[in-house]
Amino acid sequence: MNTINHLGLTLAVAVPAEFILRNRTVSGRRNEHGKALPLAGVPARLANHFDLGIYFDFRLVMIGSIVPDILDKPLGFLIAPDLLNNNLRTIGHSGLFALAFVLAGLAIHFMFRNPQVLIMAVSSAGHLILDQMWNIRDTLLWPLLGLEFRQGTTTLSEYIWFHVHGLLDPRPMDLVTGGIILVFIIYVTVFTGIKPFLKSGKIRPVMPA
Ligand SMILES: [Zn+2]
Repeated sequence: MNTINHLGLTLAVAVPAEFILRNRTVSGRRNEHGKALPLAGVPARLANHFDLGIYFDFRLVMIGSIVPDILDKPLGFLIAPDLLNNNLRTIGHSGLFALAFVLAGLAIHFMFRNPQVLIMAVSSAGHLILDQMWNIRDTLLWPLLGLEFRQGTTTLSEYIWFHVHGLLDPRPMDLVTGGIILVFIIYVTVFTGIKPFLKSGKIRPVMPA
């Protein structure tokens, strides 16, 4: 699965997930904070939906969705190709890495009441599902089925071509996921603003009906 597919499909899950989580949290706290509102010039209903509930840092969601590739591609191509048998899906694509990342996120959330690393870790774990890693069980369960990774066959030029080809001659999945990313960018530009988004990673919440 290419990078655009990973980003698009992760956003397609993360945006509704944030909507549900935020509204669940907000509805539980609405009365508690009702008296402090409205903030200057901000309708109470809008202010209620901004900072009181959980929010996702979508910068971390997007980076998280490609963390396994960010780790494993340089490892397999450049840093340790001999050690990893030129395999492009290794440690970052293992269940062990996903578990360690999620546990680190849980620990940080527990200690600092900040869920963002956990959200990023879940996004990264989702990468393994989108890559259908259950078909490569020796990597998914690494190192339980052996320490060595199987021999990889993809060359750097083939990998680059795989992505260029996705742009030049897109498959239906590339068009769908590219469309999701485009809609996300338009939404952020129109309703949040590019600068505030780049600064905070927050998107302005979609209002419930
Ligand atoms: Zn991958």
